[in-house]
Amino acid sequence: MSRPGTREILIVGGGIGGVAAAIALAKCGWRSRVLEKAPEFGEIGYGIQQGPNAYRMLDWLGVMKALEPQAVFTRNLILIDALTDRELARIDCGEAFRRRYGAPYTVVHRRDLHGALLDACRQRDEISLHTSKELVEFTDRGTSVVARFADGSEYEGAALIGADGLRSRVRELVIGDGPPRPAGHVTFRGVVPLDQIRDQSHFDDMVIWCGPDLHFVQYRLRGGTVMNNVATIVSRKFARGERNDYGGPDELMETFARTTPHVQEMLSCVGKDKNWLLHDRDPLPGWTRGNVTLLGDAAHPTLQYLAQGACMAIEDAVVLAAKLRGAASEVGAALQAYEQERYLRAIRVPITARIFGGILHCDGGARDLRNHLLAQRAPDTSWEFDWLYKGIEVPA
Ligand SMILES: Cc1cc2nc3c(=O)[nH]c(=O)nc-3n(C[C@H](O)[C@H](O)[C@H](O)COP(=O)(O)OP(=O)(O)OC[C@H]3O[C@@H](n4cnc5c(N)ncnc54)[C@H](O)[C@@H]3O)c2cc1C
Repeated sequence: MSRPGTREILIVGGGIGGVAAAIALAKCGWRSRVLEKAPEFGEIGYGIQQGPNAYRMLDWLGVMKALEPQAVFTRNLILIDALTDRELARIDCGEAFRRRYGAPYTVVHRRDLHGALLDACRQRDEISLHTSKELVEFTDRGTSVVARFADGSEYEGAALIGADGLRSRVRELVIGDGPPRPAGHVTFRGVVPLDQIRDQSHFDDMVIWCGPDLHFVQYRLRGGTVMNNVATIVSRKFARGERNDYGGPDELMETFARTTPHVQEMLSCVGKDKNWLLHDRDPLPGWTRGNVTLLGDAAHPTLQYLAQGACMAIEDAVVLAAKLRGAASEVGAALQAYEQERYLRAIRVPITARIFGGILHCDGGARDLRNHLLAQRAPDTSWEFDWLYKGIEVPA
């Protein structure tokens, strides 16, 4: 068994949350070991939005300089009715927005974000990275935690952080609340060259076209050289109880049949051979037990409708490390303090994301009311997002 120094922490899972936690811990005086199940570290090939709350954290982690050439600085966040192509709402992300939140709104390719975090990990002696390490179980000995992996290896650390995502094994052992909840919503994604996009009027924006049981998101990536496309439907088959066969490409096309020709044309930009059946969980406290805690999707998975799942994982990483700074024997108390500080903010995201999904996907009178109320909204404000984008202070 590997025997660590006294100030080493085990991080299970090397996604965005896990590697962000390793850098944050190193900045706060801790060594860490990132133990990833997959044979290689990596991320899927699609985009990710970063609210200003995450930008500030990434800047503190020291990765924004490497990431900025690849990031796209979003000009406006725009909501359009997919049945009429009429603009419903717009948030200007220019100077006033940056002043209000202390940072810009950016969009990046997941591989660029994860790659920048991973490079930062590789540059720090305090961090060791391991692949093909699938956590099976752990024992909390009170003063340390011993983790066992599928290949028979064992590691011991002062604490263990479960950053192992939606289907977290660590969560199963800490909370044991069963598998995540299928939402019955299904996403298709695609990244395409810019010449495949006929309407260039929104090239600098992040746009959501919303309609009954559907929405479509579009924004540029990789320094603006390609377009990221995400189509989501609320499956009527799932609602009818057809739980084993829902959300295929036929249902995607059928759900979008009422949208404008322009929106339907954009469906050619998403791949039809792969879909994502979306899940979240009913938010619960109790992510921390003794010297073990959870972070990111393992702690509070969310539907993607506020574009904040990874942003929350990054915030978790920074707050957790800040609580552990200076902690020696009182590691468990620091983990409890972390959960207490994060709990209400982190669960507000999945709860609000469900509500926001309902607003995007409504029909009939609800759609009329939504459009009417949005038409009264002052165009130069983003106050609805203050709680989210003002976020938390970066540590000193
Ligand atoms: C369609 C879609 C769009 C999204 N868009 C956005 C967006 O715009 N902005 C945003 O902030 N968020 C977005 N999200 C959410 C975001 O992708 C997730 O919240 C984020 O990736 C969670 O990071 P994580 O590190 O907690 O978990 P993960 O990224 O899931 O990483 C977990 C890691 O743990 C590993 N692992 C699992 N089990 C074990 C085990 N037993 N032992 C060892 N390792 C293990 C996995 O292999 C994986 O590498 C989106 C999600 C979806 C589905």
